[in-house]
Amino acid sequence: MVTGPDARILRVNDAFSRLTGYEQIDVLGQRPSLLSSGRHDPAFYEAMWRLIKRFGHWQGEIWNRRKSGEIYPEWLTISAVRDADGLLTHYVATFADISQLKQAESEAHHLAYYDPLTSLPNRRLLLDRLEKAEAMGKRSGEYAALVMIDLDNFKALNDTLGHDQGDRLLIEVACRLLAVIRDCDTVARLGGDEFVVMLEQLGRDPATAAITAESVAKKIMQVVNEPYQLAGGYIHYCSASQGICLFHGRDKTVETLLKQADIALYMAKDAGRNAIRFFDTEMQVAIDARMFIETGLRRALAQNEFRLYIQPQVDAQGGLVGAEALLRWQPEGGGIGPDQFIPIAEERGLIVPIGLWVLDQACAALRRWADNPSLEGLYLSVNVSARQFRQPDFVEQVSSALSRHGVMAHRLKLELTESVLLDKVDDVLFKMSALRLLGVRFSLDDFGTGYASLAYLKRFPFNQLKVDRSFVRDIVSDPDDAAIVRAIIAMGNSLRLDVVAEGVETDEQRAYLNRHGCVVFQGFLFGQPLPIEHFEARCTIAEVIPAMTGGQLALFQWLAGADA
Ligand code: C2E
Ligand code: MG
Ligand code: MG
Repeated sequence: MVTGPDARILRVNDAFSRLTGYEQIDVLGQRPSLLSSGRHDPAFYEAMWRLIKRFGHWQGEIWNRRKSGEIYPEWLTISAVRDADGLLTHYVATFADISQLKQAESEAHHLAYYDPLTSLPNRRLLLDRLEKAEAMGKRSGEYAALVMIDLDNFKALNDTLGHDQGDRLLIEVACRLLAVIRDCDTVARLGGDEFVVMLEQLGRDPATAAITAESVAKKIMQVVNEPYQLAGGYIHYCSASQGICLFHGRDKTVETLLKQADIALYMAKDAGRNAIRFFDTEMQVAIDARMFIETGLRRALAQNEFRLYIQPQVDAQGGLVGAEALLRWQPEGGGIGPDQFIPIAEERGLIVPIGLWVLDQACAALRRWADNPSLEGLYLSVNVSARQFRQPDFVEQVSSALSRHGVMAHRLKLELTESVLLDKVDDVLFKMSALRLLGVRFSLDDFGTGYASLAYLKRFPFNQLKVDRSFVRDIVSDPDDAAIVRAIIAMGNSLRLDVVAEGVETDEQRAYLNRHGCVVFQGFLFGQPLPIEHFEARCTIAEVIPAMTGGQLALFQWLAGADA
């Protein structure tokens, strides 16, 4: 479009006619304002003209109206044209219709900020709104809350009924959540089966705010629990766990807020699901300690922070018959007990590489022992956790550790707990039988603390049964514990299993156990767990005292200590 210096139209081209719908004849002599959409106020045009006059051109986005009345966005460039003397002769305007671009832009915006499945705000938009809510709360002094929601067992639905049904359920959950919140609240989907509800304007009193937030959470629980009508007439029941975290203005960063709500959610899951939990500081302390252990464990193997300790097992005559390998973790700044770190390693899957390390160290020890007359007759017990045993290649892991070190399999004993046996029975039986064929033996650890089931003892090929130390502790003072231990020993003996008592600390305990048919003992009475080098050193003066033999000799050395 070319206009004169008075901004009256002199010429337009075909593209102009195509885009605006006006022919040249319609617009000659008119002002370009004929195209205005009414979307911009006079100040907009004034500013535009000011810039053109000052700098000679203008560029920008503008909404205009076609002849048909349709409003569309265009990208417009206007240049002032001057002659050789610097006199203004024309204005030339070129423009492009950017409706499609605009449309794409708004789609991109939707994609970037909304979840495509449920059309709820996504994580990014939630973060944005959280920031705004914090700013609002700071001004108003009102509390707000973040409710983190995770559907229970959603994965099972997805796996059994397929993703289409899973998607249907998620969409329905989104609708139900939207129905229970107020206008000022936000429901977002973080991904998967995780939703977040942000509640604002909960008042200035924290206790009242907590009560309101909880009542919303209860309503959410109620609506989520209602049956779902899925495709194919299938009716599904579902529940959700919820973690709530209150916030007050900018008292915590958005990241902290999300983390705290997540921790509360974790506690809700831990409480057995379909539950609601609030975040509190004690919770945080416990979680921090866990995190500390978890991050530490991740580098422990690489930095060689694990040690193998060995605790002796003796027979009724006091002869050394075997030993248990016990893992110790000694990071800088103090050791952490296996009761603390093994459950975390188990949960995070770190037990698998750690367990392999223990197995390797144990087989290396058995190799050394085979070449040492005072140690060659001993067996070594290694604890195996459920997750480790569940590895599909567990049998190969054990057999390759044995052959790598050239060790006789029957010297190795694997200690399993009842939790291992709760897995797929066929798989457990298969692995145990395969290892038994190699010669490896099995011991059932901590017996009495779990199901203490006779069925387990009969069904699985164990060689040994270990009476848990919690029963041994009070055996002389508590008649119930004594009765349990007698029953366990009788059960073991009748199934021709060796019965080992762990945690034997006094002579009375040893005598009582012995009187009732227990023949192998482990406990502080016979020796604390020792670093493997110390254990071996104590047992290696064998040749010096040739008159004594076998276990007695070894125990003598044990009691005497390496220095003696
Ligand atoms: P556990 O297999 O039942 O090991 C016996 C525990 O009793 C050991 O605790 C040992 O130090 C302790 N103990 C031995 N004699 C006495 C005694 O006379 N009195 C008392 N009060 N305690 C005694 P520890 O070493 O702290 O290990 C705890 C648990 O950690 C073990 O229980 C085992 O379940 C697990 N664990 C240890 N090492 C490993 C490992 O390499 N792999 C796996 N998966 N678990 C391990
Ligand atoms: Mg054990
Ligand atoms: Mg035990």
